[in-house]
Amino acid sequence: MMRKKSRFGAILGNRCPRCFQGKLFSSRAYQLNKAAEMHKNCQVCNEDFEREPGFYFGAAYVSYALTVALWIAVLVALICFDWWGWISFSFFEDVSLFLICGIGVLLILMPIILRLSRSIWINMFTKQNESD
Ligand SMILES: [Zn+2]
Repeated sequence: MMRKKSRFGAILGNRCPRCFQGKLFSSRAYQLNKAAEMHKNCQVCNEDFEREPGFYFGAAYVSYALTVALWIAVLVALICFDWWGWISFSFFEDVSLFLICGIGVLLILMPIILRLSRSIWINMFTKQNESD
């Protein structure tokens, strides 16, 4: 039985925006020298992933939004840890702790944010194939 593919699942799994099956990227996220290498076309439905030169510059806006969300998540996590008594954190007194945690999480998640922002960007401009 074929499982129904969703656009949300395709975005999170870096899959083709039309058939939700073919992979967008040609390597693993943490192969850092190849993190942004994409297939030219979908391996399953032949959808063009290189729409026009500079198509993925727009993904920087998505990346920016994801990064802001990440910094807010780090701040909320630190405040929660303080409430639960795990650490002592005050935003105005422990700015360096906030910066170190934020930059650390950002560096670790950078390849995932890059791929997710490209995946969201191409999905914003592609309709699913109606015949599937
Ligand atoms: Zn496809």
